[in-house]
Amino acid sequence: MKTAYDIVVIGSGIAGLSFALKAAAAGRSVAILTKKNRADSNTNFAQGGLAAVMAAEDNFDNHVHDTLVAGDGLCDEQAVREIVRDGPARVRELVAIGLEFSRDTHGQFDLGREGGHSHRRILHVKDMTGKAIEEALLRAVAGSERIDLFEHLFAIDVVTAAKVGAGAVAAGGNRVLGLHALDVREHRVVSLAAPVVMLATGGAGQVYLYTTNPEIATGDGIAMAYRAGVPVRNMEFIQFHPTTLYTAGGAGAVAGWPRFLISEAVRGEGAILRNFAGEAFMPRYHPQADLAPRDIVARAIDAEMKTSGTPHVWLDIRHKDEAWLRQRFPQIFAGCEKVGLNLAKDLVPVVPAAHYTCGGVATDLRGATELPGLYACGEVACTGLHGANRLASTRCWRPSWWRIAPPPRSRTICRRCRRRPRTYRRGRISVATTPTSAWCSPTAGRSCGGRCGIMWASCARPSGWSAPAPGWAISPRRSMNTTGIFRWIRSCWSCAT
Ligand SMILES: Cc1cc2nc3c(=O)[nH]c(=O)nc-3n(C[C@H](O)[C@H](O)[C@H](O)COP(=O)(O)OP(=O)(O)OC[C@H]3O[C@@H](n4cnc5c(N)ncnc54)[C@H](O)[C@@H]3O)c2cc1C
Repeated sequence: MKTAYDIVVIGSGIAGLSFALKAAAAGRSVAILTKKNRADSNTNFAQGGLAAVMAAEDNFDNHVHDTLVAGDGLCDEQAVREIVRDGPARVRELVAIGLEFSRDTHGQFDLGREGGHSHRRILHVKDMTGKAIEEALLRAVAGSERIDLFEHLFAIDVVTAAKVGAGAVAAGGNRVLGLHALDVREHRVVSLAAPVVMLATGGAGQVYLYTTNPEIATGDGIAMAYRAGVPVRNMEFIQFHPTTLYTAGGAGAVAGWPRFLISEAVRGEGAILRNFAGEAFMPRYHPQADLAPRDIVARAIDAEMKTSGTPHVWLDIRHKDEAWLRQRFPQIFAGCEKVGLNLAKDLVPVVPAAHYTCGGVATDLRGATELPGLYACGEVACTGLHGANRLASTRCWRPSWWRIAPPPRSRTICRRCRRRPRTYRRGRISVATTPTSAWCSPTAGRSCGGRCGIMWASCARPSGWSAPAPGWAISPRRSMNTTGIFRWIRSCWSCAT
């Protein structure tokens, strides 16, 4: 087994697989670790679909507004704007790898509606969207020569320079060096070396007794990041899905499902929540009634159950035709049939259950954590997209699609001066040296001849800055003042041209 890669990705859901594909396309060698079978993920369970602005009557501002409202004022608006704008491009990428979203009779995307959305914007593959995405991504990964996917390899911990010891820290500052993982079948611990580790381990729903999340969702990535000293945030914001199938036996009534989900898309198609008195109670709680944001609907159901002393409420979509329901929601229809319910004829008993981890490992929009080399994307990450609650089907999948800056190759030591990247600060501006920068590697060690628009080797220190290591260029970092730094980049430090 190869033990050194450019990038190790932990997790084989939508986030990990899609990131790995992009990294491989950029020429990186990638190992994907997954602790069970490759398709065991929350992704594989997703029913409703993906939210993106695709309809002519919709626009980005609407989607941003809906997301901010659902997040209850605690989203990072900049993050929301960027991720929402990215949606259509990400959809096109999924289509390009062969995903066939459901279409209407005119061949257009059949856009569904879910809670909190002011417009129809949920792309779906019937009610098995996640399974279709997982299959398409796994097919694409299987076709990549640069990706090795290891099943039953359970990541235990990220190895950092700080954990290894003072010598490693002195050589290049604290950063990621690789990870340890348990080979579950062979009962042995393996270590992989990589300068970049991407956490794509999903959420933590399994910490709750009743959850829609499969067994894998145990928050491992959050724990690993925390142990590496990386901040996690918003962990108090757990989204409860309002409508999971209630059965007297509790979890597992529908084989393979911890709690069988009745997608919000069913309410999007007109289903109504009723209490035991038969009252459609949601208009009492919110103007959007049954399509209010999830947290409001879940709390309303909880209030109804507590005030009436009943173990669940009812979901009613009996006004829809059976053939249509079977065609639009084949999985949900079949799941209900397994417990003796016909969606077209019966009221369906539903209760809320833990569903989505809104918080997670604190990252910027590239997925970068505070620890150099450690990235996070997908449900494990907290980018500021969700705030206190997540808008239905709006997931943080975007960082997985490579707006993350291309991570450095494993050759992180400068070929010329043998030094590692370093960061220099002046006030609130920070800059990082990097051997893979376009400004550095082609030019290192040569004279600029007084006409460069780039940084050169052996540059003198600019006044007011701490000295960079010779042989390194300076490249912008996220916290820098862009205007200021580009002035630096445009002039050579040795000749000041
Ligand atoms: C029932 C259900 C329905 C949903 N419906 C929708 C929907 O309609 N629309 C929507 O947008 N979202 C939906 N979601 C949420 C969505 O599916 C997830 O947020 C998303 O799939 C998360 O993707 P991910 O790649 O971040 O994580 P996951 O898909 O959960 O993948 C995590 C991966 O990490 C692996 N892993 C975890 N820990 C370790 C470890 N220690 N070592 C090695 N591997 C590890 C797991 O095995 C898995 O492969 C739904 C979720 C559920 C449970």
